[in-house]
Amino acid sequence: MSKTPITVAYGDGIGPEIMRATLDIITAAGAQLELHEIEIGEKVYARGITAGIDPESWDTLLATKVFLKAPITTPQGGGFKSLNVTARKTLGLYANVRPAVAYAPFVETKHPGMDVVMVRENEEDTYAGIEHRQSVEVTQCLKLISRPGCEKIVRYAFEYARANGRKKVTCFTKDNIMKMTDGLFHKVFDEIAPLYPDIENEHWIVDIGAAKLADTPEIFDVIVTLNLYGDILSDVTAQIAGSVGLAGSANIGEKAAMFEAIHGSAPRRAGQNVANPSGLLHGAILMLVHIGQIEVATKVHNAWLRTIEDGVHTYDIYSEAHSTEKVGTQEFAQAVIARLGQSPQTLKAVEYKAGMGSVDADYKEQKTAVVKQEIIGVDLFVQKAGVTPDEMGAIMQKLDGEGLQLRMLSNRGVKVWPGGNAATGTVDHWRCRYYTENPIAQQQIVNLMQRAVDAGLYFNHVEALQTFDGEKAFSLGQGE
Ligand code: NAD
Repeated sequence: MSKTPITVAYGDGIGPEIMRATLDIITAAGAQLELHEIEIGEKVYARGITAGIDPESWDTLLATKVFLKAPITTPQGGGFKSLNVTARKTLGLYANVRPAVAYAPFVETKHPGMDVVMVRENEEDTYAGIEHRQSVEVTQCLKLISRPGCEKIVRYAFEYARANGRKKVTCFTKDNIMKMTDGLFHKVFDEIAPLYPDIENEHWIVDIGAAKLADTPEIFDVIVTLNLYGDILSDVTAQIAGSVGLAGSANIGEKAAMFEAIHGSAPRRAGQNVANPSGLLHGAILMLVHIGQIEVATKVHNAWLRTIEDGVHTYDIYSEAHSTEKVGTQEFAQAVIARLGQSPQTLKAVEYKAGMGSVDADYKEQKTAVVKQEIIGVDLFVQKAGVTPDEMGAIMQKLDGEGLQLRMLSNRGVKVWPGGNAATGTVDHWRCRYYTENPIAQQQIVNLMQRAVDAGLYFNHVEALQTFDGEKAFSLGQGE
């Protein structure tokens, strides 16, 4: 077998120790790898490089397309950026895949039967980092959800499920509230699911879904969800499986993929040969599956399961009841190596068959053509403190003109004029909604803004109200 070039970074904290242990194990198992080492983390930040990675390292990453990364310590403040976020964005790693598996009775868990894979969208949602303070009292974070982004992650979840013999994909959204953004994700899920008739599909509202996941994780298989929910819930699943220190993750993109442990650099444990290398080893197993070294992945995973079963444990999972030996990082690695070729006897043995799944090959975006896109109104967000809704309504009505008419004021999304409820509290941030009977030109929005300036009003945000092929493309205020 020819060697697959991969980029390796040893990171800092416990990173170097667990990376050495991981590489020792997979090499002993016969992994055919050509290692290209890059430096990341503390030492790079210390050179004043705020991204934590040397610019030329991207060339290595893009040439090898596969990145096995040990944890690093992200310095607090000082303009330093999270390398993970930078890598995801720079390499276009749109899918974060995190298996959460319980290893009962050998590792304590409340959910012995748990075996869930969280597939999290990695590039969109509130994580675009577009935030503004709009008024003295109000801040906003933009939640951006695109159709191509939804299609890619949902397709990926089903492809992953198929490649890994999984039976069901569950979608989590909050589309009862966010009808447009989460609604698009759900809609795309419903469009794509029938293309995979061999895989069961279902949708849960994320709140009750999360509750069910924390209570009865055994009923879930693969879960696909938006970035924020996935970020939170993948930590929940790792924690309740009892395996935060054991879990690995994959970040998959069209041009590259990154594999790591889910835990951090545990600086207090560094240099003592005590850290558990299992999280990074699980990341490396996902990498071996991704690059097609399936047999090696299976061999390593089963030897690891056997080691856990035999009670050879690092301090973090050691217990009088289930452990036979407390070992250090290197000794644990040697114990796994000694079991290569063996299978677990109580835990379920693993058999990888295909890759991590990918949407590149036959993926075609289901572009929906829009024939007619029109503007029928505008939301002007105006800052004003110390006024009642009725006073604000009277002020804003004076801007009516060119067919644009003030129809509604809302405050934090609730309609407060005309006919508001005296109990509704208000802040200094008013959405003033102007409608027309007929489509308008962009210039009419500019003219409205000019009238606001002339009236001495202070606006901080303007949103066109559009229709796409006649369908209104904006939410209504509560009570509108
Ligand atoms: P952490 O995951 O490093 O540690 C949390 C706890 O788990 C600690 O008690 C630690 O001793 C223990 N632990 C973690 N991994 C272990 C292992 N392999 N074996 C045994 N025990 C282990 O989280 P933290 O302390 O919040 O963060 C430390 C640093 O790591 C921070 O700078 C953080 O930004 C960074 N971090 C990096 C990554 C990454 O590189 N992917 C991820 C998370 C956190």
